Amino acid sequence: MSFIRTLNFSVQLTNKRTHTRSLNGLLRPARWNSNTSFKPPTRSCRSCFKPLPSTLPACPSCWSIYAVPSNISHYQLLEIPEKPNPFSIDLSTLKQRFRKAQVACHPDAWASKDQKYLSVAQTLSSQVNAAYHALSDPLHRATYLLELNGHPIEEADKMEDIEFIGDVMHDIDTIQEAGKEEEAEVREVTDRNDNFIQQVLKDIEERIAQNDWETVKDLVFKLRMARRVQDFSKDWAEKYDRR
Ligand SMILES: [Zn+2]
Repeated sequence: MSFIRTLNFSVQLTNKRTHTRSLNGLLRPARWNSNTSFKPPTRSCRSCFKPLPSTLPACPSCWSIYAVPSNISHYQLLEIPEKPNPFSIDLSTLKQRFRKAQVACHPDAWASKDQKYLSVAQTLSSQVNAAYHALSDPLHRATYLLELNGHPIEEADKMEDIEFIGDVMHDIDTIQEAGKEEEAEVREVTDRNDNFIQQVLKDIEERIAQNDWETVKDLVFKLRMARRVQDFSKDWAEKYDRR
């Protein structure tokens, strides 16, 4: 039973990724301007030269907006430094850049302008959301970095560590079968799993620094499964922790 659940879980993840990939394919920005060579946002408007409020080429002073290439990296789009380690990013900077970018290209602000501006704003808005989604969460970020570095997780990739899978399924069963009386057991599993997640995140950071992408991939699988255990823990807590 739990094996089927785990399998479904990996299928869901795979679909999600495929979906993201096909979405990216659709996000070709409208390029009515002849300037196809992309320059990273300079923070000043290329039409009126006033400072830009965000990392995007969208200017609220003269209402000019430019597309950025669909293949620009999430890091470039929000000007998040990849060095020294692209896995360790400053989340408050990310959030701040994301919010400013979101405001700058918000389709509501451009809706009353020319239709071509609106469609560029909509594309930028999708790019900004995708960037934030991929970078804000460590699991998504590691998955994205695998892709960015030529080691994407493919459908055929699977977890080789059967013992680990067995342990995870056992943990999930423990939580699922636990009532309020088994609270101590659930806590034990939850705490152990949380510590494991912290360790995996450290390992991912270290392996990324070493460009050891095959190990990163393996760790990402483990992180996904540990996250699944975390979800079951949260469900359990919601069910039994209400006062
Ligand atoms: Zn301007």
